[in-house]
Amino acid sequence: MIATRHAVRGLASRRVTPHLAIVTKPASSPLTAGSSRPTVAVIGAGFSGVLTAVHLLRAPDGPRVLLIERGPRFGRGAAYSSANAGHLLNVRGANMSALPDAPGHFLEWLGVNQAEGERVFVTRDRYGAYLQSLLREAAGAAAGRLAFEHDDAVDVARTSGGWSVGLAMGRRVKVDAVVLAIGNLAPPAPEGVSEDVMKSDRWVADPWAWIETKAAATGDVLLIGSGLTAVDVALSIGESEPNAQILALSRHGLAPRAHAPIHAVAARREPPSGSVRKVLRQIRNEAREDWRAAIDSLRPHIQELWRSWSVTERQRFLRHARPWWEVSRHRLAPEVAADLDRLTAAGLFAVAGGRLVSLTLAPGGLEAVWRPRGGSALQRRRVGMAINCAGPLSDVERARDPLIAGLIRAGLARSDACRLGLDVDLASRLIGADGTVEGLYAVGPLTRGQVYEMTSVPDIRIQAADVARTLLAELTGRVAGSLADGPDGKTDPLTRALGLYLSERTAELDVEIQDKSASRRMRSAWELRGRREALDEVAAWLEARKTDA
Ligand SMILES: Cc1cc2nc3c(=O)[nH]c(=O)nc-3n(C[C@H](O)[C@H](O)[C@H](O)COP(=O)(O)OP(=O)(O)OC[C@H]3O[C@@H](n4cnc5c(N)ncnc54)[C@H](O)[C@@H]3O)c2cc1C
Repeated sequence: MIATRHAVRGLASRRVTPHLAIVTKPASSPLTAGSSRPTVAVIGAGFSGVLTAVHLLRAPDGPRVLLIERGPRFGRGAAYSSANAGHLLNVRGANMSALPDAPGHFLEWLGVNQAEGERVFVTRDRYGAYLQSLLREAAGAAAGRLAFEHDDAVDVARTSGGWSVGLAMGRRVKVDAVVLAIGNLAPPAPEGVSEDVMKSDRWVADPWAWIETKAAATGDVLLIGSGLTAVDVALSIGESEPNAQILALSRHGLAPRAHAPIHAVAARREPPSGSVRKVLRQIRNEAREDWRAAIDSLRPHIQELWRSWSVTERQRFLRHARPWWEVSRHRLAPEVAADLDRLTAAGLFAVAGGRLVSLTLAPGGLEAVWRPRGGSALQRRRVGMAINCAGPLSDVERARDPLIAGLIRAGLARSDACRLGLDVDLASRLIGADGTVEGLYAVGPLTRGQVYEMTSVPDIRIQAADVARTLLAELTGRVAGSLADGPDGKTDPLTRALGLYLSERTAELDVEIQDKSASRRMRSAWELRGRREALDEVAAWLEARKTDA
């Protein structure tokens, strides 16, 4: 039996915010009501889409936003839809603010202090309520500028003055800009699973939808994959079918590792640099003392490192380090790990490493055959059902999703060099088949090829704010050309973003920058050390000028 988590739920429920009541209005009402504001279509209302919309709405001179979502609820997405009290965030509350410039925002919303926030892992349901409250607040302050479209966006096409989005119900909506925030693509069917199995009710292709239905497991269960999704599914089965035996099969046989109960701040150190081999050797050495600290200290630099590596080096990282990095970096909340340990100790959960050879229908169930990792003798097991917990499809050129497949066909999108998702430039704009940028934006996990880590809130919140800022500049013509110092102050997205950031900061701090040194300084910091450090550095520089003045 899985233990419940009164402490966490108690904490999380201190402040009760009702679910966002979504009234699905036809897109025509507020968005075509005679205002001269441009309209941005944001496709997908999970974390990435909601935060992009929130930033756009918060700008007084910002555009109208059409938020398109095919799922049942806006502001939840795949991650924060689960109502299961055992499904906790896998990131500490203290690091889950949705707003990059207000690190304590989520804790304030929860009503807990920093020390509590360093310990607590709230339910995903609670976090979904937080996202919805952010959206509701932004929409309230920007009356008439947000419309919801409850439909599936199936196509995006260029028009003479902008874009048009095709909806599954048959309508087309004309907009000035489009942001794709569609999350991950559905996992592909694993090799070896027979057509008969996939058509049968013993096969679950979408674990999240299955969890939502609260259906009971049929007998023992094979999970294909052993990552965070497999853990969620195992815990759900453990609650509803306490006697079911669960086997999670994955190539490497690695299960996610746990967070330490108390967060130890990783020591600050020089950013690692050099080849994959050199960086991994350094991390392995450090990991001998404390593996969490070793990973955590690398974490802020992984985007810069990734950018600095050639495609061959990146592929080397994916081949040699990815499985190990994923289980060490994306960790389980201690309570979740304890539940999993209980299942394991009771002989009800196990992880096996190997390659699935076949999964076929057998009398009364399914028969799985796999080749164990490093072994040659095939293993067999009879189960009642199997659930696909393999990771999402990352090769967008194999996508069946009509929206992505259509963009690829039209040459508006392509896969990044490592086939981790969509190819995007530094401003998160899609790069088309011939290498050109047409001006479609993407936010979220599908853009990870650019920086590798773009999976979790701490990374996506920065990207969503950046994309909104760039879009605002584009749509309102707010280009701080006088401060821009790049190859082309009007069209280069990095220069535009820098210019805008500087003009905002200088206005905020009430200082005047007459020369181009701030922009130049920020550009080189950005290129050498990445965005976060560049922002910090320039902010400190501006503050110092203010003090001097
Ligand atoms: C189970 C789970 C738990 C997680 N836990 C954490 C955590 O604790 N902390 C953390 O930092 N990160 C966590 N993550 C990572 C998570 O991916 C990010 O935090 C973030 O939620 C991603 O949001 P997203 O909006 O990009 O994607 P999603 O949440 O997947 O949202 C995309 C939305 O787009 C909609 N959509 C897709 N295609 C279309 C279309 N064509 N038309 C209309 N709508 C469309 C989908 O219905 C969906 O609602 C978790 C992920 C999962 C899957």
